[in-house]
Amino acid sequence: MTEAAATKTYDPNNIFARILRAEIPCNKVFEDDHVLAFRDIQPQAPVHVLVIPKGAYVDMDDFTARASADEIAALFRVLGQIARSEGLAESGYRVLSNCGLNGGQEVPHLHLHLVGGRKLGRMLAAD
Ligand code: AMP
Repeated sequence: MTEAAATKTYDPNNIFARILRAEIPCNKVFEDDHVLAFRDIQPQAPVHVLVIPKGAYVDMDDFTARASADEIAALFRVLGQIARSEGLAESGYRVLSNCGLNGGQEVPHLHLHLVGGRKLGRMLAAD
């Protein structure tokens, strides 16, 4: 496997960076040294939690190229813990992360959407 070298310019004033600095509030679900999770302000399902690394990573490409093994492990470990604590483990859920233009990413700080609590339908919109 070749070493990836994604280095994207991180906007320190993006809305999730401001949430991390506690400049604006969030509906917090979980926090530790590496990860913050909070409820999406426009939930698409009964449970819609955003799980973000505390490090300054633009998107999945940036994170998987530059984050430490500890940061990567922490993000996914916490995701599973939250899914269980939100009662989604039995009924099932979806995890997705929009990356870049084609992914339709709106906020340029990596975030995992954890959604569940109802049947979620097709994975991708038809259009
Ligand atoms: P994406 O399109 O993948 O970048 O998703 C960005 C998500 O962030 C959307 O689901 C928004 O509803 C959500 N969002 C934007 N601002 C906030 C905020 N202040 N607190 C919580 N969620 C937010």
